[in-house]
Amino acid sequence: MNVPRFIALIPAAGVGARMGATVPKQYAELLAKPMIEHVMDTFVDCDQIHQIFVVVSADDAYIDDIPTKPRTQILRCGGATRQASVTNGLQAMQSQVDPNDWILVHDAARPGLTVTLIDKLIAAVKDDPVGGLLALPVVDTIKRSDAHGHADHTVSREHLWAAQTPQMFKHAQLLIALQSGSHVTDEASAIEALGLKPTLVEGSPRNFKVTLPHDVLLAELYIKGIA
Ligand code: C5P
Repeated sequence: MNVPRFIALIPAAGVGARMGATVPKQYAELLAKPMIEHVMDTFVDCDQIHQIFVVVSADDAYIDDIPTKPRTQILRCGGATRQASVTNGLQAMQSQVDPNDWILVHDAARPGLTVTLIDKLIAAVKDDPVGGLLALPVVDTIKRSDAHGHADHTVSREHLWAAQTPQMFKHAQLLIALQSGSHVTDEASAIEALGLKPTLVEGSPRNFKVTLPHDVLLAELYIKGIA
């Protein structure tokens, strides 16, 4: 069997409705550079990453304005959900990868990722039989509400983590997991549904997901190294 390679898959086919912007959020500019280009550049700068695949919608009108990047291919096969976009991307790259290669799936909307974080994830997971993901231990006290926005009870934060990306799994196993039926919002959930336990690797607050308009300013502070 070949030595597994590390391959990035960036789903970027969402519309980012909560941003309320005219362009999809992955193209919002941070320090005069589109969010998705920050993410692409971070993977390009990581020597361990063999290849980078970016999944966009078939009718994406913005990706052609991003300069061509080394080792990077654009796949115009985005789906209706993030899960569908990742599944389509895994299928589209199939002829170019080995079933045993590691795929690092990373949201285009997390521009605070660094090469150090990618290297940390790879070092922690590359010998793991299942795979793993960056995540942050929950520090706040967590409330579950009733249907009317009142605190119903407090959930213990012991052993509670907030999942980030990249999420790193073997190509063949990830494709099987995502195709096995249930609706999931990240790759780890699909792997967990197979009865497997992904490794949690401590990420960083700077790797948060840009979701609301004011998140852009915070992301810029992290990228500048101020926050
Ligand atoms: O919408 P959300 O912030 O959860 O999206 C996370 C990532 O998944 C983003 O990079 C977004 O572009 C991507 N996505 C996708 N296809 C969809 C929906 C979201 O590639 N249909």
